[in-house]
Amino acid sequence: MGGHRPLRSRRLFVGLLIGVVLGLVANRFGSGTAMAETAVAAAEVVGNLFLRLLFVMVVPLVVSALALAVAEIGDLGKLGRLGLATLGMTVLLSGSAVIVGIGLSNLIRPGDAIAAARGGGDGGAGEAAEAETERLLAQTTGIKKIRQIIIDMIPQNPLQEMAGAIDGSSKGNGMLAVMVFALLLGAAIAARPVECRPLVGWLEAWNAVAMTVIGWGMALAPLGAGCLVFATVARLGLDALLSLFWFAFTVLAGFAIQFLLVYPAVLLAMSPFRPLDFFRRSAEAMQIAFGTSSSNATLPTALKVAEHDLGLRRDASRFVLTVGATGNQNGTALFEGVVVLFLAQVFGVSLTSGQQVQVVLMSMLAGIGTAGVPGGSLPLVAVIAQSVGVPAEGIGLILGVDRVLDMCRTVLNVTGDLVVAACVAGSDESHGRVHGNS
Ligand code: ASP
Repeated sequence: MGGHRPLRSRRLFVGLLIGVVLGLVANRFGSGTAMAETAVAAAEVVGNLFLRLLFVMVVPLVVSALALAVAEIGDLGKLGRLGLATLGMTVLLSGSAVIVGIGLSNLIRPGDAIAAARGGGDGGAGEAAEAETERLLAQTTGIKKIRQIIIDMIPQNPLQEMAGAIDGSSKGNGMLAVMVFALLLGAAIAARPVECRPLVGWLEAWNAVAMTVIGWGMALAPLGAGCLVFATVARLGLDALLSLFWFAFTVLAGFAIQFLLVYPAVLLAMSPFRPLDFFRRSAEAMQIAFGTSSSNATLPTALKVAEHDLGLRRDASRFVLTVGATGNQNGTALFEGVVVLFLAQVFGVSLTSGQQVQVVLMSMLAGIGTAGVPGGSLPLVAVIAQSVGVPAEGIGLILGVDRVLDMCRTVLNVTGDLVVAACVAGSDESHGRVHGNS
C-alpha cells in the first residue's frame, strides 16, 4: 500500500496544478465568456460529486472509527490519558496559532489600508457577498448560551444530530455531539466486551463500507480536487487576492510560521519523527485537504496516512484524527483571530488588550467547534466579531477570497491533526517503534 503512495500523491499534485493553471487561464482570458462559464459550471458539478462521494460516508466513518478506537483502547484510564494528551496538544497548537495570527495582525495592520481606501464607503462587498453575509448572520442569531452548549454535548437524539452534522443544521452540537455518542458507544463496548461482540463486528463492517466507498471517491481525487480548484481560481483569479493583499499576506504568513516553525519544533520535541520526513509522508493528506477545503472529507486519507505512511498505532491515531477533524483546527483558529483584528482595523474599532485576549480564547474555542467543511468557520467568525463590538457585516469584505484561504487553512488543520497523532501515538507506552530515519 505504502508503495503506491508516491504515485497517488504525484497524480493528485498534477491534478491540482492543472486546476490552478487552467483556472488562471480561464480567469485571465475567458472571464465572462459563455465557454468559461460552462467550463466552470461543469467543473463544479464534477468537483461536488467527488466531495459528495466523500461526505456521504463521513458520519458512519466517524461513528465507527471513534467507537472502535475507544473499544480497542479498552482501558478507560488509558483512554482518559489519551484524551487529555490530545486536548493538551490542541490547546498548545491552536493557542500558538492564534497568538501568531494576532501578533502578525498587530504588526502588519492589514486593515489600515482598506480603512483609508473605504473613507466611509460601503466596503465594496458586492451583492452576492451581501446576500451570503446576511445568510451567515442569520445563522449566528441562533447561537446558544454556553450553558446550553454544555448540555447539548450529550445528544438528546443522536440520529437527529447525525442528520445535520455536515450542513450545520442539527438542533444540538452537531458533529461534536455525534462524537460524544460514539465515545459512549465505544466505552460501553469496552465495559461489556463479550455481550457487545456482534456490535463490534457490525461497526467494523460499517467502517469497511465507509472506507471502501470513500476509496472509490479517492480514485477520482486528481480529477475531482483539480476541478474544485479550477472552479475557485477561475472565479477569483489573482485580482481578488491582490485587492486584499495585506489581509491575505497576514493570514498566509501566519500559516507559514505555524507550518515551518511551530510544527517542526513540536515534532522534534515530542515525536520520534524528523519534520521533513513527516511532511513527505503526510503529503497526500495535505493535498486532499487543499483540494477539498474540508477536514472531514480528508479524514479517511488522514487515517490511511497515519496507519500506512507514518506507521502510527491504529487505535491511538484513529481516536486522535477522528476527534481532531472537528476538534483540532489550528489554521481555522489562526484565521479567525486575524479576521476579527482585520475587521476591527477596517472599521476603526480599537480593541483593548483584554478584548484581544478574549479574541484569542474565543478563536481557540471556535477551532474546536468549527465543522470541518468548506467555509465552516465563517459563522463563528461573525460571533467572535460581534462579541467584541466589531461589525460582523464586515465579513462580506473577505468572502471573495475566503475559499482560497480555506484551502490553505484546511491543510494546516489536517497537518495539525497528524502532528498531534504523531506526538500522542509516539508517546504511548506500548508504542515501541521509532520512525523518521529513512
Ligand atoms: N474548511 C475548514 C476545515 O474543514 C474549516 C474552516 O475553517 O472553514 O477544516
